[in-house]
Amino acid sequence: MADHTLKIDNARYVLTLDGQRRIIRDASILVEDGRISRVGKAAELAALRADRVIDARRLLVTPGFVNGHMHISYAHVVRGIFPDELASPLLHVFALQEAMTEEEEYHSTLLGLVELLKNGTVCFVDPGSTKFPDACLQAYEDSGIRVILGECVTDQDAPFKLPRFATKEAIARTTSFVEKWHGRLRGRVRAWAMPFSPETCSAELMQALKRVADERGTALTLHHGSGPKARQEYTARHGRRPTEYLESLGVVGPNVVLAHCLGIDDAEIECLARTRTAVVMCPVTAAKSGRGVPEHGRMPELLAKGVKVALGCDSPNNSNHLDMVRTMNMAAIQYKDARQDLRLIPAEAALEMATVVGAQALNVGDDLGSIEPGKRADLVLFDTERPEWQALFNPVNNLVYNADGRSVHTVVVDGRVVVEDHRQSFVDEGRLFGKVQEIGERLQARTGITFPRSRWPIV
Ligand SMILES: [Zn+2]
Repeated sequence: MADHTLKIDNARYVLTLDGQRRIIRDASILVEDGRISRVGKAAELAALRADRVIDARRLLVTPGFVNGHMHISYAHVVRGIFPDELASPLLHVFALQEAMTEEEEYHSTLLGLVELLKNGTVCFVDPGSTKFPDACLQAYEDSGIRVILGECVTDQDAPFKLPRFATKEAIARTTSFVEKWHGRLRGRVRAWAMPFSPETCSAELMQALKRVADERGTALTLHHGSGPKARQEYTARHGRRPTEYLESLGVVGPNVVLAHCLGIDDAEIECLARTRTAVVMCPVTAAKSGRGVPEHGRMPELLAKGVKVALGCDSPNNSNHLDMVRTMNMAAIQYKDARQDLRLIPAEAALEMATVVGAQALNVGDDLGSIEPGKRADLVLFDTERPEWQALFNPVNNLVYNADGRSVHTVVVDGRVVVEDHRQSFVDEGRLFGKVQEIGERLQARTGITFPRSRWPIV
């Protein structure tokens, strides 16, 4: 349980991400009952006592990171097996996912949680990939993380193996999932509607799931893409662009989070801005899978129009890491290169997407995303006594351009210290790593989904 009061004392810097985006030097933070009650200069808060005090003189504090799209289920146990040039990874992704047993998914999830937390992510959206949430609940509980869950549903043919139901059943399953899961673990679990995509779900299903989200005060996420070819097909079939098609169904709004959003055009960006629909982009996945960021990435335009954009890591066989610091780095550099324009996505914008703006996109902005009195105490403390943090003049630049998740020293969720001195204590990592390797071998043997292990001879 959380200490009743916790004080982060004398931090070298606190990046508050508050309304003025203040960066406070020599700062302290007081946490009471899981919420931030005070933040300010250490000297001004010197008289405040707490049950537990963390000496933060060498540490830099940021809000906990939110990861808006991260399939946690299968991929940790077979990470890195796909050759770079594999043309259709999704065929294998969903076949591997489908083959996982409850016990296998539990361990794969545990590893995902270890990696997320140790790299500073305190809240993530699993877009419906978890098949056995009951089995994974203990892992969510033990780790202390926040998780946004849902059941992935479709009611149309798909080119790969997705959970397919009759429309009515898909609606009923989503309704009962949200009712069962939303608010569990003292609010750390949230449940959303998760239709896979507009191509694999009927209009009737998507509209019904949006109603489920509206009526239960929760949200909906789905995979969304566009681009010239999709635009042509949608126009021929529905008389509208892909995003306008969603608008015509009413599947837009502040509680709708569209994942990836590559290839949308200006009219679609207008539509997202007008309807206050949120977006999650996965910059490392986009780059690694050659999705054509120069042509299809519209992150600068979305942000310029005020669309709330969160960042995601997608999956350990897409990005392949779950490190939001590296993800921020990619977001901040890829548009500069793609468009040969150094003004695009400054380091500050990347950090906002991983924290305050991302939290707003994911409908958790009232509680998370900044270090201000009243917010939940979700904090990441970076060790600045490392070579990559020297010399330290512009803390945001150091964080986004120099550092990576390895300098995450301490992580606090809901006022509870879940990572301390680079270590978590909810699972024995040595045993877990062995188990995951074993499960990965088993899963490949069972499914026959194997690839040459290396282009080079392993002797
Ligand atoms: Zn996805």
